[in-house]
Amino acid sequence: MAPESQNFDVVVIGGGPGGYATALYGAAAGLNIALVERDTVGGTCLQRGCIPAKEFLETAHVKRTIEAGAEFGLSTSNLSIDFSVSQARKNDVVSTLTTGLTGLLKGRKVTVFSGTAQLQAGNQVAILDGADAGTTLSGANVVLAAGSVPRTIPHFEIDGTTIVTSDEFLSLTSLPATAAVIGGGAIGCEFASMLVDMGSTVTVLEGLPNILNGCDTDVVAVAQRAFKKRGMNIRTGVTITGHTPKKSGGTTVHIDGGDDVEVDMVIVSVGRRARTEGLVADGVGVVIDERGFVVADRSMKTAVANVYAVGDIVAGTPQLAHVAFAEAVVTVKTILGEPVQPVDYTRVPWAIYSNPEVAFVGLTEAAAKEKGIPVVVKKDPFAGNGRARIIGETDGVVKIIAEKRPDGSAGQLLGVHMAGPWVTEQLGAGYYAVNWEATAEEAAALIQPHPSLSEVFGETLLALAGRGIHVG
Ligand code: FAD
Repeated sequence: MAPESQNFDVVVIGGGPGGYATALYGAAAGLNIALVERDTVGGTCLQRGCIPAKEFLETAHVKRTIEAGAEFGLSTSNLSIDFSVSQARKNDVVSTLTTGLTGLLKGRKVTVFSGTAQLQAGNQVAILDGADAGTTLSGANVVLAAGSVPRTIPHFEIDGTTIVTSDEFLSLTSLPATAAVIGGGAIGCEFASMLVDMGSTVTVLEGLPNILNGCDTDVVAVAQRAFKKRGMNIRTGVTITGHTPKKSGGTTVHIDGGDDVEVDMVIVSVGRRARTEGLVADGVGVVIDERGFVVADRSMKTAVANVYAVGDIVAGTPQLAHVAFAEAVVTVKTILGEPVQPVDYTRVPWAIYSNPEVAFVGLTEAAAKEKGIPVVVKKDPFAGNGRARIIGETDGVVKIIAEKRPDGSAGQLLGVHMAGPWVTEQLGAGYYAVNWEATAEEAAALIQPHPSLSEVFGETLLALAGRGIHVG
């Protein structure tokens, strides 16, 4: 049982990527850290987000590979799926990583408390419920890392069977034969892609004119074409008015001015809201915006001295685990008074693990033009790449955007956008090039291994720098 009140250099509220990274990185610097978690360390990312979702997408990938066996001369008849095995495998991956994380926290001597924490006046953190209820921690610094939960929409009450969010979807032991995914963003497209590969009939319903809002339109076009080729129904620009559950199970989703969609399951994937309710006691001056997100500056400082915020709860920042990690580093360095480079949110890597994958960094062509930046653009499809032909995954493109110099040549790289096989693993080179502010020539002078998928990136750079080998 924890003592009634304890002092720490840093008290972290929330044990997701933002919170545990702050704790581990801070402890590595010798700070005495407390971390309070109301559920399980690892947060959304490990328990019900990135890791579980990618495990299911990998199940879909393995199935595709086996199905393609005949092309390689391998007999693959009578393929069957027991999704409960994938669910058990996912649980095993999650539990191994959770055990590893718990061990890391223990090894670095982070004191982990269990319960829901609230920031109170004078940097006191009260634990309101759970095993350590009644304990008050005093932090020379406090880091708010309470993360986010799925947003829901009116008329679609989550029941865990017919209407689900990502939380329930990632715990299924069998998949629906038919599904509607409301929201064609990154998570919605990952789920839809996985379901289509696993044999479900899927309709994506998106209110905006395009799916994958925020991605470059050329990349979206390639991904959308590939999705549709595999049988995914995509309806954009729709307004959903509600649904009528069927007595026999499933429901009928109603679209304003459009055909109904009859499905076994609706997956609501319309973004995530910050989990800030009750996080800060009344009268404590942390600013929470009208959408419920915590306002922090580029050093992750909130409006209250020595109180910081990281991860999904921070207003106006991308909700990505690796962004939370980066913010944790900024926070700890700021606490230590070390020189620190704030996160440049306009140049973080984005990765979507659908089939084909989508990954990008930096400005889209449209965003560059909106900013009035003259650009040079080159694109190279994966269809002509040797490795893509070998693995039999040729849907995809690399598109690179560079600033146009006065003489018309390509200067500094502004954005790298990819759709295709394993692009989430290939984006790293583009990420470095854009963030190191390399020019097209500088980046093109570096060699890609042959035969590799990353040659498409290298070829596109060569073309951008003035003359390509395969690309014009
Ligand atoms: P969280 O991970 O939400 O963790 C917050 C923690 O704080 C939770 O454990 C919660 O229980 C705890 N908590 C909350 N309030 C309190 C309190 N008052 N007291 C004590 N504890 C509290 N990101 C990527 O980068 N790549 C991906 O591929 C990716 N895929 C995703 C797929 C899905 C389906 C989902 C839902 C998300 C995905 N994300 C992905 C986003 C990623 O999971 C989040 O950006 C990341 O988890 C945010 O970390 P966080 O620490 O800010 O918050």
